[in-house]
Amino acid sequence: MSQKRIAIFGSTGSIGTQALEVIAANPNLFSAEILTAQTNEELLITQALQFNPNIVVIGDEKKYNKVKSALEKTHIKVFAGEIALEEVAAMDCYDLMLAAIVGYAGLKPTLQALEIGKPIALANKETLVVAGDIVMQKAIEKRAAVIPVDSEHSAIFQCLVGETRNKIEQVILTASGGPFRGKKPNFLVNVKRDHALQHPNWTMGAKITIDSATLMNKGLEMIEAKWLFNLKPDQIKVVVHPQSIIHSMVQFEDGSIKSQMGLPDMKLPIQYALAFPQRIPNDLPRYNFKSVSTLTFEEPDLKTFRNLALAIEALNKGGNMPSILNAANEIAVYAFLRNRIGFLDMTEVVEQTMSKVAFIESPTLDEYFESDGEARSFAASLIQM
Ligand code: NAD
Ligand code: MG
Repeated sequence: MSQKRIAIFGSTGSIGTQALEVIAANPNLFSAEILTAQTNEELLITQALQFNPNIVVIGDEKKYNKVKSALEKTHIKVFAGEIALEEVAAMDCYDLMLAAIVGYAGLKPTLQALEIGKPIALANKETLVVAGDIVMQKAIEKRAAVIPVDSEHSAIFQCLVGETRNKIEQVILTASGGPFRGKKPNFLVNVKRDHALQHPNWTMGAKITIDSATLMNKGLEMIEAKWLFNLKPDQIKVVVHPQSIIHSMVQFEDGSIKSQMGLPDMKLPIQYALAFPQRIPNDLPRYNFKSVSTLTFEEPDLKTFRNLALAIEALNKGGNMPSILNAANEIAVYAFLRNRIGFLDMTEVVEQTMSKVAFIESPTLDEYFESDGEARSFAASLIQM
């Protein structure tokens, strides 16, 4: 395998830093060609000095001078701002984009990369939740692969290798259940930010950790699965599996179920997506059947974790409803992280926004952008009250 030049959009985040660990462990296979960060200029500078990329982008323009002067003695090109992210994504200097920005902000750079036919290792699930039809259509048109990084979707993708002619009956996404599995609304009403940020099995960025605690993450993943694997909503199921050893499953027409298993470590799906179609060795800890000898499964509690029920509603409704759900959820999660609203209020914000913003059955890209904006302002107006 020749060296693949990786463009990491969101290199300072949880996925981005783990991807750089994978690159550092495999210098003959991968190089970091582009690194981008929104606000953490210190880490971006450190990463740039270590990995010597061709380009870095700092989203926050106020930090441009600091990054520029820190990298003055290198050949690294420095850009800043939201537009620069898109412009750099459109440059033909890399082989694979790792889309690891969090939230809606990841959509436009990913579309730019697809526009020039670059394959995407996709961590940023919100991209598909917001405009999955347009993104996947662009990928098909440009013959660019979209390789999932999300562990559940990586599992499904791995189960589907060699099965191109075989029909899927259903996919079963596993969910850890998050830190509040088994809890009821009378407990959740008092949950504070720091408690919700403690996930039992995974260490992740703040937004996805909160989404995991509310089960919104699993709902976003159902929508992500619909687009990645071209499924109908009723082919996508969720089962709670607290040990997070089975990362997801595919059931075929003969009733046979394939699963992909391993310890919960995002470096595995990240490495798989970067190296695909090859598997490369690593020395990550292995799953030991003796230490986790019981794997259990239960139904998700949709009455308590209503965010998942709302996401299923958006999945069934289609059109711009998932993008409305996503926009309201981003506003609600950041308000919760700033201690502005309570844990259960997040669901209220999402539900009310879904009932308020105009439904469009087959939106254009501009209409997706507009309903995102409309949903954000409405959700924000609820929080200010
Ligand atoms: P994070 O918050 O740790 O990192 C986010 C990255 O995006 C940072 O580099 C940050 O600088 C950048 N960023 C943030 N806002 C931005 C903006 N407005 N414009 C440009 N860049 C911006 O997030 P994360 O946990 O690494 O998650 C990244 C994505 O991967 C999310 O979509 C998440 O759902 C998905 N994902 C994460 C995990 C995980 O284990 N962390 C697992 C599966 C999927
Ligand atoms: Mg996941």
